[in-house]
Amino acid sequence: MTDQTAELPKNFIRQIIDQDIATGKNDGNVITRFPPEPNGYLHIGHAKSICLNFGVARDYEGHCNLRFDDTNPEKESQEYIDAIKQDVKWLGFEWSEPKNASDYFEQLYQYAIQLIESDKAYVCSLGAEETRKYRGSLTEPGKESPYRNRSVKENLELFTAMRAGNFKEGEHVLRAKIDMASPNINMRDPILYRIKYATHPKTQDKWCIYPMYDYTHCISDALEGVTHSICTLEFEDHRPLYDWILDALNTPCHPQQIEFARLSLEYTVTSKRKLNLLIENNHVEDWDDPRMPTITGMRRRGITPESIRGFCDRIGVTKKDAFIEMSVLENCVREDLDPRAKRIMCVLDPLKVVIENYPSDQQEEFSVNNHPKDLGFGTRSIPFSNTIYIEHDDFMENPPKKFFRLAPGKEVRLRNGYNIICTEIIKNDAGEITELRCSYDPESKGTSGTRKKVKGIIHWVSAKHAINVETRLYDRLFNVPDPAVNNELASTLNLNSLKVFTNSKIEPSAKTLTLNDRIQFERQGYFCLDSKHSNKENLVFNRIVTLRDSWAKIEAQNK
Ligand code: ATP
Ligand code: MG
Repeated sequence: MTDQTAELPKNFIRQIIDQDIATGKNDGNVITRFPPEPNGYLHIGHAKSICLNFGVARDYEGHCNLRFDDTNPEKESQEYIDAIKQDVKWLGFEWSEPKNASDYFEQLYQYAIQLIESDKAYVCSLGAEETRKYRGSLTEPGKESPYRNRSVKENLELFTAMRAGNFKEGEHVLRAKIDMASPNINMRDPILYRIKYATHPKTQDKWCIYPMYDYTHCISDALEGVTHSICTLEFEDHRPLYDWILDALNTPCHPQQIEFARLSLEYTVTSKRKLNLLIENNHVEDWDDPRMPTITGMRRRGITPESIRGFCDRIGVTKKDAFIEMSVLENCVREDLDPRAKRIMCVLDPLKVVIENYPSDQQEEFSVNNHPKDLGFGTRSIPFSNTIYIEHDDFMENPPKKFFRLAPGKEVRLRNGYNIICTEIIKNDAGEITELRCSYDPESKGTSGTRKKVKGIIHWVSAKHAINVETRLYDRLFNVPDPAVNNELASTLNLNSLKVFTNSKIEPSAKTLTLNDRIQFERQGYFCLDSKHSNKENLVFNRIVTLRDSWAKIEAQNK
């Protein structure tokens, strides 16, 4: 992989690392980690964290661990673990051996014993409701639990019995003994362990007590020798707890937690829980629906890992939360695909055109460059005959002044072919246009100087040679830039986010396309075959992105 970040100004995290190296901290080592919870599929927000953590490790010749934060057995599954590995790999990053928080369950338990022995943790038997009341609020200090002063001996006995499965869920928890009056609620004797009779994807039924995120995370980082524990801003208020636990246990290594701003993308949501809701309510097909901002959805849509990495570089890393416009991602995709996508002609919504002065038993082949700027892509041959398809909306019976495509009596150029003039419109009983009759100018072939200049150029395919295919066009999932703001996902859904044409017509050269190809349909955008629904008999194409930002125009009109 090329190092695209080398020319960019260093973000604040890289500046911290530079300083650490200069002062000899961590012996100059840089060890990071990406710690997803396997409770769903990764999305574009995770991509930012992946590019940051793995990118930093790569550039400083350190390493980055992939660690599954698997402490909520009820919500986690092997399916998600496998999918996360596949997605990180696809994005272009590698790790040595995947780690799991559950690998450390025994060590975490022993550390908890250590906390109890040093009177820094106690077993609390308040119910959930009471615990909440005792915690206080932002404006009021909390109250100490009546169980806070249990003896070390009693705490050890109770905690051992919790592990042994002698209690019901919710009967007891283990809490850190910190400060119920702390202005930071996270420091008001946070829960470290709870009882849960759930089968874990890795440890099965070995445990019935599970450590909480805050407790698990810092110790896992320390056990792995992580130097820089990079996380999103919402964990800033958890940092004092992160540091308190590691100080209390005097771990051999004390990683530095550094927070950065989450990625939020306009017109979509970046939360596994909310994405899951879209699936449960049948608004999308699955995690890999091409409209989803998941890595698997974007992959199926045809977006390349290079585009996603380029996007993450472009948006940078800051400490201020902000929404990124969808067009930033789309432009990265276009810039990546333009130099690598062969061109082809495909008519999405076909209208039949018969060229009356072209002999019906005649046909010819045009030799055409596959890429306008890169001759290395070679040429292909496009068949032409007296019956072709053009795009329905490339014809208007009563065109406005600036319509330069086909209209009665008007001349238009067929891309790579001839000029044609519309001579007759044929309609069905309902008054819908079903066919056009045209005449062509035999002198207008190719790019020779003799041809007349016409303003409009349209794409087409020869009817007899065309392959019938399905094309799917995607639009934004939501109608508003911040659909998550009021938790009203359903009412802000864009009901037209998927448009399907089952009768599209493509050049015969499409036969040789494979799932890895990304191509440009001239005038329509970049497309790829759909890995889920396309097969040899029925080619199904996804539009990856349009050629231009059509939303910029719509948004400007709405202002
Ligand atoms: P979700 O709400 O989607 O479940 P999460 O933060 O709970 O997100 P985790 O699986 O815990 O998901 O996240 C793994 C890592 O990815 C964390 O370090 C987290 O900070 C980071 N991450 C998650 N979402 C984003 C985002 N939108 N932008 C940047 N980093 C993110
Ligand atoms: Mg989470």
